[in-house]
Amino acid sequence: MKTPLSITLKRGLFRTCPCCGQAKMFDGYLKIQDRCRSCSLDFDSIRSDDAPAYFTIAIVGHIILPIVSYVEFAYSPSLKTHLLVWPPIIVGMTLGLLPYLKGMMMAVTWVIKGRKKR
Ligand SMILES: [Zn+2]
Repeated sequence: MKTPLSITLKRGLFRTCPCCGQAKMFDGYLKIQDRCRSCSLDFDSIRSDDAPAYFTIAIVGHIILPIVSYVEFAYSPSLKTHLLVWPPIIVGMTLGLLPYLKGMMMAVTWVIKGRKKR
């Protein structure tokens, strides 16, 4: 019996093997291990390419842009304030979200490719 899609995606989101959920997929911030240490799923054959970056940009943009617009129209801070406040928040959100979306996109890729071990 196949694992439900929601559980597979959750495993990916939490950066564990989408097949067994027992071992970590990542060997660092974004570096992927060669294979699962628990079930030997070949992580090299699961490629997420640029999808995590696209989704990270889209999500961070959809969260930040309305907030920046609201702050601008409500308080009209100076350009200097904008330049001091928003870049660290945007970079922090982007770097925080990217590894989790990469894990989830790898799980999606694994499901699309038919959940094969190799
Ligand atoms: Zn595994």
